[in-house]
Amino acid sequence: MFDLVKRAALAAILIWTSHGAAMAQSGEDCLSPASLRDGDVRRNAALFASGSGLCLSELQFEENGLTWTLTVIDNTRHSKGPTFYLLHDNEDSAFETALYGIRKYGGKLVAVESGNNREFNGQDPNRNFGATAKATAPCRDMRRKPAPLFTQFMLDLRDASPNFVLTLHNNANGHSGNGGSGGISIERSSSVMKGLKAPSGGDEDDAILLAGTQPYEQDKQAQKATAQFHKAGVNVIYEHVLPERNDCSFSNYVVLNRIAPYYNIEAQHGHTAQQKAMLDVLMKFHRMKVRDRAVK
Ligand SMILES: [Zn+2]
Repeated sequence: MFDLVKRAALAAILIWTSHGAAMAQSGEDCLSPASLRDGDVRRNAALFASGSGLCLSELQFEENGLTWTLTVIDNTRHSKGPTFYLLHDNEDSAFETALYGIRKYGGKLVAVESGNNREFNGQDPNRNFGATAKATAPCRDMRRKPAPLFTQFMLDLRDASPNFVLTLHNNANGHSGNGGSGGISIERSSSVMKGLKAPSGGDEDDAILLAGTQPYEQDKQAQKATAQFHKAGVNVIYEHVLPERNDCSFSNYVVLNRIAPYYNIEAQHGHTAQQKAMLDVLMKFHRMKVRDRAVK
C-alpha cells in the first residue's frame, strides 16, 4: 500500500514540479523568489541572495479534486536539521519563525501555498491527514476521504532525524470564553486540551502544544518536556488524542500512527519574537546544534 502511494507521489512530483525544473532535492535548480506567487517567499526575497544556501522549490500534486501546492525551502549548507511544517498560509509569524529556524538550525521548511488563506478551496489542510476510510470516519472537517497521497507526501518530506515532528501555527487573541476570538489558549481546558501555564509564562496564546494517546497525568514524556518548558517560561498545552475523536489534524495523525513525538509551536498572530524564543527553547531541549549564531 505505502509503496504504491510512494510511487504515485513520485510520479506526481515528476509531472507537476513547477516550471519543469528539476526538484530541489537534486541540489541544482533552485527557483528565484520572484518566480513564485507565494507572498511569504516574496516578502522574504532578500534572504535568498546567492550564497545564502537557501534553495527554493515548489511541488504540486492532485488528490480528491484538489491540486495542492507546497513551497519547500532547504538549507543546503546544513541539510541535517528539523523539518518545519506550515499548514496554514495566513499565519505569517509562523513562516518568519520557520525561516529563522532553518537558517539557524538547518533543515527545511514545507509550507502549504493557498493564496494566503487558511483553507484551500474549502479544505483546511490541517484536517486532511488520514490514509484510510476507517481512520478518517470521525473527521467532520475532511471534505473528501481519505487522503493517502496528501498524507504520504507530507510525511515523505520529513527527514527521520531528528526524531520529532514539528509544526508552527498562529492563533487569534484570547479565546471565545474570555472575550477573545481564538480557539487556542492556555486558559481554556476541555476534555481534549489541557492548558499548563508556566509560572513565569507569557501570553495565554503563546505555547508549545504536545499530544499523546494517554491523559497528561499518565504521559511521562509529556510531563518531562512540560517541566523543562515551564522552567524556560514557556506555556504548554497537552492534547489527548483518541481514535474515536480523530479530527484528521496533523497532531492526531502523528500520534495515532506513532510516527514520532509531536510539537506545535503556537503563537498569537504577530508574536514572531515570542515564537522564535519558544523554538530556541524546544531546540535546546532536543540539544539541536546551532549552525549560525548570527541569524536574528
Ligand atoms: Zn494554523
